[in-house]
Amino acid sequence: MIQHPGNVFVVSAPSGAGKSTLTQRLVRSVPDLIFSISFTTRKPRPGEVEGRDYFFIDDERFDAMVREGGFVEWVEVYGHRYGTGRDWLNGVLATGLDVLLDIETTGAMNLRKVIPDARLIFILPPSAASLEQRLRSRGKDSDEQIRIRMHHARHELEQYQAYDYLVMNDDLELAYHQFESIVYATRASLGRMSPAARRVLEGF
Ligand code: ADP
Ligand code: 5GP
Repeated sequence: MIQHPGNVFVVSAPSGAGKSTLTQRLVRSVPDLIFSISFTTRKPRPGEVEGRDYFFIDDERFDAMVREGGFVEWVEVYGHRYGTGRDWLNGVLATGLDVLLDIETTGAMNLRKVIPDARLIFILPPSAASLEQRLRSRGKDSDEQIRIRMHHARHELEQYQAYDYLVMNDDLELAYHQFESIVYATRASLGRMSPAARRVLEGF
C-alpha cells in the first residue's frame, strides 16, 4: 500500500473521448493538483515535451525499471509500454499535493490495489459515432489506426462499472464542470476534512 496525505485521482477514457482536453484544463485551473508523468517507450509526438507529457525512455531502460520494481503499474498498449514510476509517484504524494493520473483501464485497476481510496473517473464519449468523428477531426490517426482505436475503445468502455464517477463528454463545458466538481467534492469529503473540523472544534 502507498501512503498518501493528498487525494489521488485516476482518469481513463477511450482515445478521442476528450481526456486530454479535460485534464489539461483541470490541472491549469485547480490549484495544488499535479499531473502524473508516466514513463513510456513510445516516441514523442510533435509538441510533446520530455518531463512534461512523459518521460520518454528506451526498451532497455523500461526493462531495467520493471526488473527493479520501479513501476507501481505498467502496461503494453498499441505496441508501446507505459508505466507509473514508483519513486516519482511517492515523491509527489509525499508533498501532500493531489495527483491526477491519466492511465488506461488495466493500469487503473492495478493502481487501485495499492491505493484503495484513489477516486477513479471514466470519461464517456456520447456515442460510438461521435468518438469516431472526434478521432477523424483530430487528424492524428490513419484509417487503420482509427479502426484499432475504435476496437480498443469498446474494450475500455466495458470496464466502466469499476469506476467511481462517469463523466459524459458531450457538452464540453458541462463535462468540465462535472470533472472539476469531483475534485472539489473529494477535497470536501468527511474523511479528508475531519482533521480540520477537529481543530476548529478544539477552539471552542
Ligand atoms: P483524448 O485525449 O481522450 O484522446 P482529445 O482531448 O484529444 O481526446 O479530444 C479528441 C478531439 O475531440 C479533439 O479534437 C478535441 O478538441 C475534441 N473534443 C473534445 N471534447 C469535445 C466535446 N465535448 N465536443 C466536441 N469535440 C470535443
Ligand atoms: P498515448 O500514447 O495516447 O499518450 O496513451 C495511450 C494510452 O496509455 C492512454 O490510454 C493513456 O491513458 C495510457 N497511459 C499513459 N500512461 C500510462 C501509464 O503510466 N500506465 C498505464 N496503465 N496507462 C498509461
